[in-house]
Amino acid sequence: MNYIVFDLEWNQNPGGKKTRNEKLPFEIIEIGAVKVNTKKEITDSFHRLIRPQVYNWIHDSIHEVIHVDYKDLMDGVSFEQAAREFLEWCGTDWYFFTWGNQDVMELQRNMKFYGMLDMLPGPVTYYDVQKLYSITYDDGIRRCALEHAIDELQIEKKYGFHRALADAYYTAEVLKKLNNVIIVNHPSLDVYQNPKKKKDEIHISYPDYDKYVSREFAVREKIMKDREVTSTRCPICHKPAKRKIRWFMNNPKVYYSVSTCEEHGVIRGKIRIRKTDEEKYFAIKTLRFTDTEETEELRERKELLRHKRQLKRSAEKEI
Ligand SMILES: [Zn+2]
Repeated sequence: MNYIVFDLEWNQNPGGKKTRNEKLPFEIIEIGAVKVNTKKEITDSFHRLIRPQVYNWIHDSIHEVIHVDYKDLMDGVSFEQAAREFLEWCGTDWYFFTWGNQDVMELQRNMKFYGMLDMLPGPVTYYDVQKLYSITYDDGIRRCALEHAIDELQIEKKYGFHRALADAYYTAEVLKKLNNVIIVNHPSLDVYQNPKKKKDEIHISYPDYDKYVSREFAVREKIMKDREVTSTRCPICHKPAKRKIRWFMNNPKVYYSVSTCEEHGVIRGKIRIRKTDEEKYFAIKTLRFTDTEETEELRERKELLRHKRQLKRSAEKEI
């Protein structure tokens, strides 16, 4: 088993969002990675600069952060070659580790653009070191910059930040400071390659919560009418839990509910609605145990939203 810690640098349209290629808003220009063994020692490294094929200049804001000149990129290889060589270098049995949740998705989006996504079948399970760092040293929710973590852990700054190989190296250094049990218990699932059909739907039981990823729906309104999407089963016994607070819309992308399993306790349900590149919709549901405090917060939140809607309705009637 290889642990692959990788980092990508990407460019965006120098002309701004209006004229960008919607199929490739972020074009990868550098891949850096280190291979880590089970003792968390770095055993190998990989680095490729990538010659851009879509955007012909580096966006100013990107240039400020990443110290790469466009002419340096001209010496790089094509994305197709870099991605193929990267996956070959990873070997057959690996887990990805990245700082944050964007790199795994962008790698896939770039591969899809070049018609080579079948080389990396999804959904992709990976480990988000930024999240694991927060779980270990912070509140599990906040996310900090890689350099901040390096400072906090007093790791020597051998290289500049925001270059792919250096950031992969630093991420591996943070990984060394994390407990294996915490790592194993908190994998992340990237669903850029989301389930299309009912038979592809994903049900995963983690130690303290359950995750479900639905099939695609052409119309967004149909999602919350689906019985599987809205079911609330206990993460432990998987029996139906009784609804205490019915699903309500927190915002157009997120719904909440609260239910009770008589044996195991109070469960918070969360449904996040996601839109695919092809303008289809799917749901990601998580069911985890909660406490009275959060239940009350959600109850108040639901009441407040209901009240706001009523006010809006009566205001509309008066007009
Ligand atoms: Zn139960």
